[in-house]
Amino acid sequence: MADTSYDFDLFVIGGGSGGVRAARLAALSGAKVAVAEEYRMGGTCVIRGCVPKKFMVYASGYGKHIKHARGYGWSVGQVSYDHEVFATAMHAEVDRLSGIYHRNLVNAGVEIIEERAEFVDANTLRLKASGKTVTARKILIAVGGRPWMPSAEELPGVEHAITSNEIFHLETLPKHLVIAGGGYIAVEFAHVFAGLGVKTCLVYRGDTVLRGFDEDVRMAVHEGLKEAGVRVITQTVFEKIEKTDGDLPLRIQLKNGHHLEADVIMMAVGRCPNTDGLGCEAAGIALDANGAVIVDEWSKTNVPSIWAVGDVTDRVALTPVAIREGHAFAETEFYDKPWHFDHSDIPTAVFTQPEVGTVGMSEADARKKYGNVDIYKTRFRPMKNMLNGDTSRVLMKLVVKPDDERVLGVHIVGEDAAEMIQAIGIAIKMGVTKPDFDRTCALHPSVAEELVTMRQKWVPEVTA
Ligand code: NDP
Repeated sequence: MADTSYDFDLFVIGGGSGGVRAARLAALSGAKVAVAEEYRMGGTCVIRGCVPKKFMVYASGYGKHIKHARGYGWSVGQVSYDHEVFATAMHAEVDRLSGIYHRNLVNAGVEIIEERAEFVDANTLRLKASGKTVTARKILIAVGGRPWMPSAEELPGVEHAITSNEIFHLETLPKHLVIAGGGYIAVEFAHVFAGLGVKTCLVYRGDTVLRGFDEDVRMAVHEGLKEAGVRVITQTVFEKIEKTDGDLPLRIQLKNGHHLEADVIMMAVGRCPNTDGLGCEAAGIALDANGAVIVDEWSKTNVPSIWAVGDVTDRVALTPVAIREGHAFAETEFYDKPWHFDHSDIPTAVFTQPEVGTVGMSEADARKKYGNVDIYKTRFRPMKNMLNGDTSRVLMKLVVKPDDERVLGVHIVGEDAAEMIQAIGIAIKMGVTKPDFDRTCALHPSVAEELVTMRQKWVPEVTA
């Protein structure tokens, strides 16, 4: 297998989810593989994304659980939260996971290069710190993405704001946190900090958060933010940020003429591919206007020796997608088992509180594609909330194609929606129909049983 005309059979740039999966599999086939990582093994997901974020969601949720426990007869004494205790435990777990990534690569025989690699040409990379050059028969770009920030010209004072990279390293809780954006990251962290008792404000340029999601989901999340105590300001953006001598030392001037004061400002206005300075031009790799590496369904770039997987390709920026893309690449190129990942019907969750679980098409997208669609939906107070004072309601919605009754989309907002949607994702992938849902026996008492007991098509209310 080993090709001695190059230093490596495969050189992976980036030790995140996609790169590590591809490197490990390729090495286990007998190929000579290296991974270059300039920071720590694990990438966004493990180090500054999904994993620490989910721990923060759990930490935040306990406050509500303690409060709600009273409705079930528990008397709870003095309650307090120590951010340092939690953050220390969270970082220790992140370190442990990063170590596992490292060990798994070593055990598979991958050479780990702890420095930045940049392209010299289509088969050559320069290692930034040591100045060495290495060659590889195949190169996989798996460098991920990073938070996008407006420039100081676009937003004066932007240097006073942090991003989701830094939010995990706050030593104390903010007094007043202001978050810009209305996507996944903005809404998840708004709930996290509101749940931890922080006065939290979200500023979104549109009218309802989570653009691109089903309208009912968006409305439920938008309302949920307000119910959780988040101040949601819409239809405006930051004009400038200034430092002051006040107790809340940051003053945000909004474009709508109002201003806000904060001690921490987080920009969550999207992410961009990490291709700056990677030397893609030197290797002739085609990038799109946002700097994402252009690939085909095989994750192949326009250069025959170079592939790319994960967020850097700006297809679907989710960890399991990067892993699948990396897996498919490795099996195709190193095991002679060609397959590529199918990007349709990917289940996804937004870890608001309660959370969103969604798979397949939104009602609007389905109507655009198929014209008429049948909608089944329900909003109800789950049994658990009847005694605990929680006023939040569950949303469940099915989008169904009328001619063959195929379920095109399932959308849930409610506790454990992520868990439910993972299982439903299997059925959707198998082409489940509404009659399949109908003949599935309910599991009682559960929240999920409502998914198989919706019989009435939803008819829009006609207003006079
Ligand atoms: P998103 O693309 O989801 O959201 C970006 C938000 O910023 C949108 O609300 C957008 O508004 C707004 N925005 C963009 N540009 C500007 C601007 N110039 N001024 C003001 N507002 C602006 O990005 P995120 O950073 O939240 O997340 C990135 C990706 O990471 C997600 O798409 C997802 O794939 C992944 N992710 C997944 C998670 C999960 O699986 N639970 C959790 C976190 C991230 P508008 O809607 O008007 O465009």
